[in-house]
Amino acid sequence: MSTVERRLNLVGGEWVGSGSDEWISVLDPADLRRTVAEVPAMDADEVAETYRAASTGQQAWGALSAIARGRVLLRAAAMLRERKTELAALITAEMGKTLIEAQIEVDKSADFFEYYGALSRLEVGEVLPHERTEVTAWTRHEPLGVVLAVTPWNDPLLTPARKLAPALAAGNAVVLKPASYTPLIGIELARVLADAGVSSGAVNTITGSGGKIGQALLDDPNVHAVSFTGSNEVGAEIEQALLGTGVRLLAELGGKNAAIVLGDADLELASTTIAAAAFAQAGQRCTATSRVIVQRSVYQDVIERLSQLARDHRIGAGAGQGTTLGPLVSSSQRASVEAFIARASDEGATLRAGGRRPGGAELQHGCFLEPTVLADVRESMEIWTEEVFGPVVAVLAVDDEAEALSALNASRYGLAASIFTRNLQAAMRFVRAADAGQVAVNLPTSGWDVHFPFGGFKESGRGHKEQGLEGLDFYRQTKMVVVA
Ligand code: NAP
Ligand code: MG
Repeated sequence: MSTVERRLNLVGGEWVGSGSDEWISVLDPADLRRTVAEVPAMDADEVAETYRAASTGQQAWGALSAIARGRVLLRAAAMLRERKTELAALITAEMGKTLIEAQIEVDKSADFFEYYGALSRLEVGEVLPHERTEVTAWTRHEPLGVVLAVTPWNDPLLTPARKLAPALAAGNAVVLKPASYTPLIGIELARVLADAGVSSGAVNTITGSGGKIGQALLDDPNVHAVSFTGSNEVGAEIEQALLGTGVRLLAELGGKNAAIVLGDADLELASTTIAAAAFAQAGQRCTATSRVIVQRSVYQDVIERLSQLARDHRIGAGAGQGTTLGPLVSSSQRASVEAFIARASDEGATLRAGGRRPGGAELQHGCFLEPTVLADVRESMEIWTEEVFGPVVAVLAVDDEAEALSALNASRYGLAASIFTRNLQAAMRFVRAADAGQVAVNLPTSGWDVHFPFGGFKESGRGHKEQGLEGLDFYRQTKMVVVA
């Protein structure tokens, strides 16, 4: 008999296990000997059953007034805040980030439900003029039906919240398929929403390996939209699978975010801001700064500062006292990051800080890696072009502003970019030139509030922005009405 706790999925208002009795172990990345809990490995039939439950559930949820739905979301926001300590501990246990980072994640997730809950009192369409004065013309927003949300492991509560809050506000039912490394907090979010009063079947969860149940998830007549955040590879597979089906797709994909430091910048501000954006959550953020472009006059100074800030981190379990940097999510994620660092060194980059596994007996069973600064990087190197998704920055020297902007945009990605300078004209030239969805001046590439439209250009995303008012549009369709 297993003594490991099992967490079930919410399907049509019921908590259900696995028909085949197959379970997925969720490990603690700070100590892989510890299983946090197990979740069901659902099969294709169970996926189809979940969609039927969601389709039924959508009818009652969609029939409520927007204001009534908004009240439920506001209640969910309050419950997330009440349970913050416990929910943050669960995020840390399965994902590895520090408790402080996890608490910020819970707060921001609550913000999403608060924001979209409050928007339920916004106008519900537009009245438009008509040539004939006796005709009234207006638009009304209607839900799409059932939305599949597929989410990655790096922000395992925030990313589901970013999708579920607008999808539910618009009157859709949702099926959440969380990442298999971190399914527990997504299931808890479903519990919070159920406790807050969403109708049965309006929120459902599916756990199981994306590779195994992907086809069943995408190829179902009850799915009307897919909201995906994750890798470009899986995003492309999903896009292929949905081609010609008429199912809406929103995809938030990878990034290779750059920060430019011009010679006139406040170097203290630039270095501390960039180091925080690069190493927080052990670099496992889609908006993490991973490329730093520095004007040659201050290059060595910036490298020294970033390296010192990297060395200052206290690496440890996310729940440990005083930890500032937790582990990577899994041993394979760490192996992948280590291989990137090794290949960068082979290509001629200089390791200026980190790059190794930390010592100390208490860290030997976790997926820890020192924050890493690589200098003498060239634009042709893999470390400059490919997403690493770990605590690693590559630093490039350039002669001037024009060269900096050209290096910034020479990337297939375009999620977030920032510049550090005291020159207003240079800052404004950067704002216009940067080919990225989110741009910042003297601020980090990461950290965008829930009411700010969010999403990347180029290969960093497609379909639609998330967050803010724009974020609502993906989850609803507009009906044009004329009445004489
Ligand atoms: P991933 O491998 O693409 O997985 C994302 C989700 O897709 C997981 O739930 C995964 O399930 C599921 N999945 C895998 N194969 C599937 C298939 N064939 N059909 C349907 N679903 C499938 O990404 P990840 O490794 O979890 O996350 C890291 C990536 O996410 C990075 O590339 C990062 O840049 C990106 N990201 C982007 C943003 C953004 O806003 N732009 C934000 C955060 C992260 P399993 O876990 O079961 O495999
Ligand atoms: Mg993956």
